[in-house]
Amino acid sequence: MTDERQGLPSASNFDRFEKCRGSWQAEQGLPDESNEMSRAGDLGHACLAGEIHIDELDDETAKTVGVIKKIEQHTLEDCGYQNAEQIREKRLWFDIDGVKQFSGKPDLICLLGKEAFVIDYKTGPIPVEQAAINMQLRALLVLVDHNFGPFETIKTGIIQPRNHSTPSTFAQYDRKAIMVSYVQVLDLLEDVEKENPPRNATESGCRYCKAKTTCPETEKNMIEIYETNLPAVPNAELLEKCAIVKKVIAQIEVNAKAALKENPEAIPGYKLKPGATRQQITSPEGVFYQAAIHGVDGQEFAAVCDVNKTKLKALIKDKTGHKGKQLDETLANILEGNTTEKQNAPSLAKDFRDE
Ligand code: SF4
Repeated sequence: MTDERQGLPSASNFDRFEKCRGSWQAEQGLPDESNEMSRAGDLGHACLAGEIHIDELDDETAKTVGVIKKIEQHTLEDCGYQNAEQIREKRLWFDIDGVKQFSGKPDLICLLGKEAFVIDYKTGPIPVEQAAINMQLRALLVLVDHNFGPFETIKTGIIQPRNHSTPSTFAQYDRKAIMVSYVQVLDLLEDVEKENPPRNATESGCRYCKAKTTCPETEKNMIEIYETNLPAVPNAELLEKCAIVKKVIAQIEVNAKAALKENPEAIPGYKLKPGATRQQITSPEGVFYQAAIHGVDGQEFAAVCDVNKTKLKALIKDKTGHKGKQLDETLANILEGNTTEKQNAPSLAKDFRDE
């Protein structure tokens, strides 16, 4: 497979480069990692670029793509970009004197006279840096300015519906801020390409780094955890190390599964255990008719059925023709008095208030 990045740094990794200058060189020659989520994300992006139909996506990704389209449409209308020239998924290059330095592929570029808008979609749930501090977007805006500019203003935005606390964030750069971005991006690129740039392990930095299972920095974290006397109340530093090591362990397991799939004898003592088979009811109506023979009435049957809120919403939309806020209100009225709320057990999360 040809490497469309031509072995040069890509904007999609600039957030990681900022955390770990050594990661680009550490990844050289290592195979690409892909998992179910990244494959679903690739398909979601292909759908948003108009390359495949939404029916080819799994339900979760299709729903995410639908929300991204809505947020994007409202944003472009609100900002007056509805008639702007749109360029989707085009790889752009930054060159100095004709020599390529790095590239990036914005999901959407809108060009409107002396202004541009660069939007990046995230289909996964793990929050990314907000638009104003996102180095990937900063690298993308530099590419857009370099290829189509100079612009007086460039807006940038991230649309990430599955990050429920901030499903979209935006930032705006005037000419001075655009020029500052050039300096930041090119300085970072210079650091990344120096001889032996420093490596710095962080959970978010190592998460997608292909070197994590071979990197001495992540290994150092494993050893430090191993040598720690388990405290009753772990501190933030220990929790960060645990988060890094969990990513490494997860990747080791992914690699082991791939090896066993390729060759069942690859790891003596281990095998691939087939996943459990789950039966799914595809015709509740048919089940009801059968259950009714045994004396089950409609109310009793409804009590053992789960209603899917997304599908119910689609049904109500179909029946009423309602959309947007009106549809939400209709659904809220239908649900009123007929639901309870359950809260899942709390999970560990970083508290960003002090950062
Ligand atoms: S695994 Fe982490 S510390 Fe090592 S190179 Fe990658 S990002 Fe840097």
